[in-house]
Amino acid sequence: MNDIEARDFIRKIIYDDLESGKHDEIVTRFPPEPNGYLHIGHVMAICLDFGVAAETGGRTFLRLDDTNPGKESPEFVQAIKDDVHWLGFDWGDRLTHASDYFDRLHESAITLIEKGVAYVDSLTAEEIREYRGTLTEPGKNSPYRDRSVEENLDLFRRMYEGEFGDGKHVLRAKIDMASPNMNMRDPAIYRIRHIPHQNAGDNWCIYPMYDYAHGLSDAYEGITHSLCTLEFEDHRPLYDWFLDQLEPEHRPRQIEFSRLNLAYTITSKRKLKGLVDEGIVSGWDDPRMPTISGMRRRGYPPAALREFVKRAGVTKKDKLIEMGALETCVRDVLGDTAARRMAVLRPLKVVLTNYPEDQVESMEAMNHPGNPDFGTRELPFSRELWIEQDDFMEEAPRKFFRLKPGGEVRLRFGYIIRCDEVIKDDGGNVVELRCSYDPETRSGTGTSDRKVKGTIHWVSCQHAVDAEVRLYDRLFNEANPNTADDAHSVLNPASLEIVNAKLEPSLADLAEAVQFERLGYFCPDSQDDAAGARVINRIVTLRDSWAKLEKQALQGQAR
Ligand code: ATP
Ligand code: MG
Repeated sequence: MNDIEARDFIRKIIYDDLESGKHDEIVTRFPPEPNGYLHIGHVMAICLDFGVAAETGGRTFLRLDDTNPGKESPEFVQAIKDDVHWLGFDWGDRLTHASDYFDRLHESAITLIEKGVAYVDSLTAEEIREYRGTLTEPGKNSPYRDRSVEENLDLFRRMYEGEFGDGKHVLRAKIDMASPNMNMRDPAIYRIRHIPHQNAGDNWCIYPMYDYAHGLSDAYEGITHSLCTLEFEDHRPLYDWFLDQLEPEHRPRQIEFSRLNLAYTITSKRKLKGLVDEGIVSGWDDPRMPTISGMRRRGYPPAALREFVKRAGVTKKDKLIEMGALETCVRDVLGDTAARRMAVLRPLKVVLTNYPEDQVESMEAMNHPGNPDFGTRELPFSRELWIEQDDFMEEAPRKFFRLKPGGEVRLRFGYIIRCDEVIKDDGGNVVELRCSYDPETRSGTGTSDRKVKGTIHWVSCQHAVDAEVRLYDRLFNEANPNTADDAHSVLNPASLEIVNAKLEPSLADLAEAVQFERLGYFCPDSQDDAAGARVINRIVTLRDSWAKLEKQALQGQAR
């Protein structure tokens, strides 16, 4: 596919506008409201807004859309900045706030009043709702709709000066109470709220509404294409109405695309905030959260997120994308960049009865099977080893090629061993395996050409590094928890499992993501990991375990 074929409908519009000379520079903005942390859906908007500008040599503003004081905070502003940077995008000196324009927006509101297209309404919020009508019935004009310009100017000035309490009056656009588009039924422009603002402090007690502030902020910044999600399609006539009335120097164009939804997760700041506030997760950056900060802490590389939204594509169709598609991108990036290591998550002790007690051998191990540039490392091998509990089965089926009583297996980078005796505790649990090794079978240098079907990983007991390893699964059991009324009812109770693992000694100072052979990709937890007390996150398993489960279920049906 060449670049032109690969262009989505928004890029087609943008490239056409450049070719036709309508614009010589593309200017976009990413306008999050700082009322929560950014999530995977925002990654799509960030990559689109910053991406199209960057690829055409244009500019992008990071604009904090802070028209809702009370819900917004400097903590969220900082998190948004960190997340956009981490994803690999830079706004240069174009960090702005809707609140930077409060003066201009206020002046423009006065212009609307002077033009006779805005009025101060004094109905209560309840009455305004009643007068608004419904989707099937037109609204009714407010009795205050025909106030004179002078009276409106006077009331708006007194609103601004703080004379009235919250909700006492509201400034509305005078458009059409019978419009089939509810957004055009005299929408509010300014409301009274005696509440400090995260950026503007105590300067204001009237605040502009989002629809009013947004389009004008776009115009002030010279935004050429204002890209937003489909729920704003019905707001576009209003967006254009404000521009028609006020005729700013620059005229931005709003274009809508569909939201990105991820299966088994939530993409709504408000609902994610509920999970945080109720303590269902440990915070916004809990590694199970679909927030950018959660995914960062989990160990997802930013390149994987960018690749994911690229594969998802920019469209007008609603999409619910499988978690597997995101995990595939994570594996694709880490597969090339992560070194291989050995670790045992659920340890079972193996004693090699014919291995000298004090002997330690050093085994050479490849750091990446597909890329010799990663080099090799030395692994200590000794008489007592940890293997994975799963790699032993007492009553094993014929096709079980790992360890079973009397059976043989190869220890990766080590020897072939045979299981001679199974030691159990009083409860009948297997606690140790007594095995013998074949000294002729050392990997790489062995003189024997004996072959066995299975190879398993291991860690030398006396050299092992202890670690708390956190294994994550999906936070929800429901494919679309966005639609659930009560998030609790669809939570996956097994979304976090903690195991006490044994790591090979080179992992004592692990700093970046690695692959634990046969297990998945892992990295230190950025909050809780410390020297001497390793806390490691599983980023993702090696294969899509859900796909495997689905396949098994289907095979079960076929039988
Ligand atoms: P939320 O409901 O999570 O708060 P929002 O749309 O209200 O989402 P904003 O902070 O207003 O969040 O969003 C900033 C930008 O990100 C907007 O342009 C919005 O359209 C876009 N965006 C938000 N969610 C998604 C999503 N799921 N997919 C694509 N773009 C999104
Ligand atoms: Mg919002």
